[in-house]
Amino acid sequence: MRLTVLGSGTAVPRAERGSPAHLVELGEGERVLLDLGPGGCRQLARLGVRPRAIRRVLISHHHPDHTLDLVHLLFAANYPGELRTEPLMVLGPPGFRAFFAALCAPYGQALRASAYELVIDELHPGARRRFEGWMLQCAPTRHTEHSLAFRLTELGPGGRARALVYSGDGGYGRELVELARGADLLLMECSFPDGQGVPGHATPAVAARIAREAGVGRMVLVHLYPPCDEVDLLAQVRAGWDGPVELARDLARYEV
Ligand SMILES: [Zn+2]
Ligand SMILES: [Zn+2]
Repeated sequence: MRLTVLGSGTAVPRAERGSPAHLVELGEGERVLLDLGPGGCRQLARLGVRPRAIRRVLISHHHPDHTLDLVHLLFAANYPGELRTEPLMVLGPPGFRAFFAALCAPYGQALRASAYELVIDELHPGARRRFEGWMLQCAPTRHTEHSLAFRLTELGPGGRARALVYSGDGGYGRELVELARGADLLLMECSFPDGQGVPGHATPAVAARIAREAGVGRMVLVHLYPPCDEVDLLAQVRAGWDGPVELARDLARYEV
């Protein structure tokens, strides 16, 4: 599978780092988005990926920086010149159906699925779903009342399973360590440098601890608030973990 970081940033508008959104391309032409913050649809356009090519969107939690471009995606689906006819599935944490209805309500008919099937569903912590050629697992994170991390597993060449884990937002949690166990790539939020952490978010020391305890193959850091770019964040991670780690850039690609 292939991961493209659409937005390596946060709630803060920045030229270099967009809000959280990530594209995962799996076999059989499956394209999945992990979160869809503001600017995510524009980043897809930069990659030449049409909105209608997205089959599923997984939402980690309900904060605006992770959800706002759902509105954009749905409105674009009704544009006559690019009318979506392919089904779209949007999955979120407990309470997502009500959240989604409230998000779309002010726009009325503009966001109603005009020519395609729209499936909105909720994922509970610990949920497993099987899709064609890959599997999704979820775990709770310590961020909001209902926030999730995701593990996507696909059988790669030679029948070896390849796993990508996305932390969503959250600080240290045993559930995330278990979800990430042995993953090939951990896409890990790292909101603030060590010494500047806030509850419900990870710092380099937390990210390093999770990577170390889970034994992941490599780690890519995202959800970087501005102070992260003013220090040597990677050195802070390496103080607690000696595996391969890098700071994501917007539109960076990783083979998993
Ligand atoms: Zn966030
Ligand atoms: Zn959040």
